[in-house]
Amino acid sequence: MQKIAKGVYHYDPDSINLRQDLEDFSQALKKQILERDNYKCVICGMGKKEGVELHIDHIKPKDLGGKAVLENGQTLCSRHNFLKKNLKQTETGKKMFIQMLESAKDSGESELVAFLEEVLSIYEKHNINGHIVWKKSSDI
Ligand SMILES: [Zn+2]
Repeated sequence: MQKIAKGVYHYDPDSINLRQDLEDFSQALKKQILERDNYKCVICGMGKKEGVELHIDHIKPKDLGGKAVLENGQTLCSRHNFLKKNLKQTETGKKMFIQMLESAKDSGESELVAFLEEVLSIYEKHNINGHIVWKKSSDI
């Protein structure tokens, strides 16, 4: 937090990126990750053969403490690397809806449960943030 004027606080997103360089993958590690993933995007399977550019992505982001280790690296094509960045925001939303759903279930608010399940089913329909799993009432 940075104080700009009396009573006004400004959140500076750059300040959290100071450690960035420490957690970047080394060239040697990038090569290991590419080899493990067979030089293919782990999402769509496209690679050099198809002429796509490949990136090494932190599975757990650096700003959440993700380390530059083999297990935290994955190969993504430029399209999926880009999509993943955009999906950060929908991810935050999905987690919030899941939390709301759990508490709505606990308090027996069936209308709210129905609404939230529908919202979450739209995530599923568009295959957005599929790695975050939510439980439908019918699963319980
Ligand atoms: Zn891809």
